[in-house]
Amino acid sequence: MLAPASMAPDLGDNGRSFASPDMALLPILVYPDPRLHTVAQPVAQVDDALRRLVADMLETMYDAGGIGLAATQVDHHLRLVVIDVSEDRDQPMTLINPEIVWASESKKLNEEGCLSVPGIYDGVERSTAVKVRAQDDQGQERVIEADGLLAVCIQHEMDHLKGKVFVEYLSLLKRTRIQTKLAKARREALRT
Ligand code: ZN
Repeated sequence: MLAPASMAPDLGDNGRSFASPDMALLPILVYPDPRLHTVAQPVAQVDDALRRLVADMLETMYDAGGIGLAATQVDHHLRLVVIDVSEDRDQPMTLINPEIVWASESKKLNEEGCLSVPGIYDGVERSTAVKVRAQDDQGQERVIEADGLLAVCIQHEMDHLKGKVFVEYLSLLKRTRIQTKLAKARREALRT
């Protein structure tokens, strides 16, 4: 997820430098890529290969100035998301096999953006607080209670695991406009 200016932590120049020779930036799928609609499979084992993917996803998220990234967006169809909503970009969270065990009835309309839908921000209604059960990158199960931006981000990223992109909450008219705009941006990028 990309936070709009009104909600964003101060990212400075894309946050901290997180580079290490072992890590790699992963290509991010861009809407309407059909692979974004793949339903993610549960992670069977939290091992070094998975932790490597987590490290690459974090590097990719920080590099792109995002506050959350789902494995779906980098074409790995596993129930895995990484999030960091901290101002200093130093509190990475890894959620493996996340399940929402409680969501508040109170909802709020928030402006959201997404690394897979560059340049588009729009309002989506979400629960204001959630409780999520997930494993961390050591395979430890934990329950996270979230509100504010973290609650929004968790719900946004968990939608990706279901194959859902936030623009699908918007009207068909808006979605069509977004697809036209992204197709145009792609054509212009190819031309230069
Ligand atoms: Zn997203």
